[in-house]
Amino acid sequence: MRLILLGAPGAGKGTQADFIKDKLEIPVVSTGNLLRSAMAHGTELGKKVTAYMESGSLVPDELVIDLVKERITQDDCAKGLIFDGFPRTVAQAEALDQVMKVDAVIFLHVEDDVIVKRMSGRRTCPECQTTYHIVSHPPKQEGICDKCGSVLGIRSDDNPEVVRQRLAVYHKQTEPIVKYYEAQGLLKVVECEPTIEGTSALVEKALEV
Ligand code: ADP
Ligand code: ZN
Repeated sequence: MRLILLGAPGAGKGTQADFIKDKLEIPVVSTGNLLRSAMAHGTELGKKVTAYMESGSLVPDELVIDLVKERITQDDCAKGLIFDGFPRTVAQAEALDQVMKVDAVIFLHVEDDVIVKRMSGRRTCPECQTTYHIVSHPPKQEGICDKCGSVLGIRSDDNPEVVRQRLAVYHKQTEPIVKYYEAQGLLKVVECEPTIEGTSALVEKALEV
């Protein structure tokens, strides 16, 4: 199964991607995580994308498309995958169409004001990139990643000003692809519930039909 998880920044794509990954045993391809890892390792790509990412704008399409093309040729993607954070522009969606047939697109819908609230409490593991929320999804031990034991941090682009910028970019550049996939008959809309489990149940249902 080849899936795309679509939604605003902070809609919970990463969390639901992990849920589907465990359920269907297919890998998550998160362009945000791939780009952050390139930055952390100081690669050529990492150097090129830092300024875009820190300001909340999109990384140029060519860079992201090349990155994805390389990632999807790896063995673990053979039986399917879940895209999280890709495509983010119509140009990226068109480029993906040329190299892969997608089976479904799950659109996680959340209102902007809910997102801004959520992002202010988000904590992220710098090692394995798992995300938490200080109120709605705290780690078992405060400030420590459940999965790998690393000290949790706040992503530099999760500060309120940059969050607003990312939302503006989302509405302008990414939202048009909702229509793009709707026109292809691939779109499944999930109205997000207040809890992670509630949303996962709806995602599961969307995958069955
Ligand atoms: P979120 O979904 O919470 O905004 P991501 O980790 O998906 O976080 O993305 C963080 C940043 O990485 C984006 O603001 C953007 O700069 C860059 N990025 C990630 N994926 C893409 C993409 N497909 N195209 C362009 N830029 C991207
Ligand atoms: Zn971790």
